[in-house]
Amino acid sequence: MSGPRPVVLSGPSGAGKSTLMKRLMKEHEGIFGFSVSHTTRNPRPGEENGKDYHYTTREVMQDGIDNGDFIENAEFSGNLYGTSKAAIQDVIDKNLMCILDVDIQGVRRIKETELNPIYISIQPPSMDVLEKRLRDRQTETEESLQKRLEAARIDMELSSEPGVFDVVIINDDLERAYEELRDLLSDEIQKVKEVKS
Ligand code: ADP
Ligand code: 5GP
Repeated sequence: MSGPRPVVLSGPSGAGKSTLMKRLMKEHEGIFGFSVSHTTRNPRPGEENGKDYHYTTREVMQDGIDNGDFIENAEFSGNLYGTSKAAIQDVIDKNLMCILDVDIQGVRRIKETELNPIYISIQPPSMDVLEKRLRDRQTETEESLQKRLEAARIDMELSSEPGVFDVVIINDDLERAYEELRDLLSDEIQKVKEVKS
């Protein structure tokens, strides 16, 4: 696959992936393109179909998976999530650096593909902080919050295994974590800028 190297952001729900990614994309307009995943979960207030996710039903998504339309898919907290081949191709066609936000199952599946991204894990400083962030975000029911915390425990354990991620960023102070992410990607950002100029 040609063009800039994609970036996979992973880490527990509530760790701050979207916050960091949105800031990166805003401060580097015309550099990054988000791989818009499909999901069967309901949109949160403020989320837009086709921008944050392609919201779909389990039946339609399963048909797409059976059809070979997805490079990876996973069950997370009672819903299906997946990256379609078209989502990646859309970004590549625009010559942008593709950012994917996937869970740890997605990371494992993407490793079996040709995508060859930079793998970055965004981690909270502790489970207590994670729980507080998820509660304060006010997007989850108690049941989905508990499922996310359970998935977070598994994620935190697997992410610390050597070789899974290229870099693990602890999102304690947002400013500091953002700078770490931006500095990490600065060479790739520069390459995209040079191609465009
Ligand atoms: P994710 O995309 O990983 O699920 P979000 O980006 O939605 O996580 O962040 C979860 C919540 O935590 C949001 O309400 C966000 O504003 C907040 N948040 C993110 N990073 C920090 C941080 N460093 N300090 C405090 N709150 C944060
Ligand atoms: P949320 O519901 O909070 O948006 O996402 C829940 C989890 O699903 C997060 O860990 C997120 O990274 C993951 N996720 C989002 N899109 C995909 C996808 O396309 N594939 C996989 N495997 N996980 C995804």
